[in-house]
Amino acid sequence: MRGLKDKVALVTGGAHPTGIGGAAAKRLVEEGVKVVITDLADDEGTAYAKELGAVYVHHDVSKEADWQAAIAKAVQTYGGLHILVNNAGVGTFADVEEETLEGYNKVIAINQTGVWLGMKFAVPEMRKAGGGSIVNISSIFGAVGGFGASVAYHSAKGAVRLMSKNAALRYAKENIRVNSVHPGFIDTPMIALMKDPTNPAMAQTMGAILSMTPMGRLGKPEEIGSLITFLASSDASYCTGAEFYADGGWTAM
Ligand code: NAP
Repeated sequence: MRGLKDKVALVTGGAHPTGIGGAAAKRLVEEGVKVVITDLADDEGTAYAKELGAVYVHHDVSKEADWQAAIAKAVQTYGGLHILVNNAGVGTFADVEEETLEGYNKVIAINQTGVWLGMKFAVPEMRKAGGGSIVNISSIFGAVGGFGASVAYHSAKGAVRLMSKNAALRYAKENIRVNSVHPGFIDTPMIALMKDPTNPAMAQTMGAILSMTPMGRLGKPEEIGSLITFLASSDASYCTGAEFYADGGWTAM
């Protein structure tokens, strides 16, 4: 892909090689990008960054001071910042009545507020660099109601979809593009619980997911990593404020 060599990227939630952030970090490195991986999983993140030739930073995306430190580390290490992949997130199952205020606020803090904080602190560095690309990871559940569960997750992912469009308009004249990515069901640590063969309720949910996915299979993290990398590249130079689905056809129905 074009325009990526020697650019600097920060990928949140990228510690797991089998996760979406991990796959995006790998693909970005393969395209010549200097990558900073951030996460809470320090041992795994440190080892994976070493394997890729990237840098690892401990970073809780819900904390403002952690954002400032992570972005400062990217700039100190590589001299600037051009790409932000707001990928860190947590999953939930609770519906409207089951959810607690504490649980709801936690999901919003990580999946929603964390994305806004990332843009807030990345944009000044991108402006200094003459432009950039922000890729915010939403979900198909940021656009449709799913199974009527996971209310906090849907709320946060819907907000990510719209704040991406809002930010895209704000920075359209400054060569800073902002897009959202909406994965369907991807085979990562986040959905490992749903693959537990000893849990019949989860097995039933997984069966429903597969039968409702037109392509009839889960997505692979690399299939989202490549879309993220495309949006980061200058091959996507006219894409901003748009939402990109990689869901095996789920939202076409
Ligand atoms: P994942 O492997 O669990 O990745 C999420 C990462 O975020 C984990 O490394 C996790 O760290 C990290 N994280 C959690 N809380 C954090 C915090 N406060 N600060 C920093 N990092 C934090 O799952 P994934 O499936 O690759 O998910 C990546 C993104 O894709 C998420 O935003 C998710 O909502 C989205 N997504 C996933 C799917 C899917 O089917 N897998 C579908 C649609 C959207 P720990 O492991 O240490 O907790």
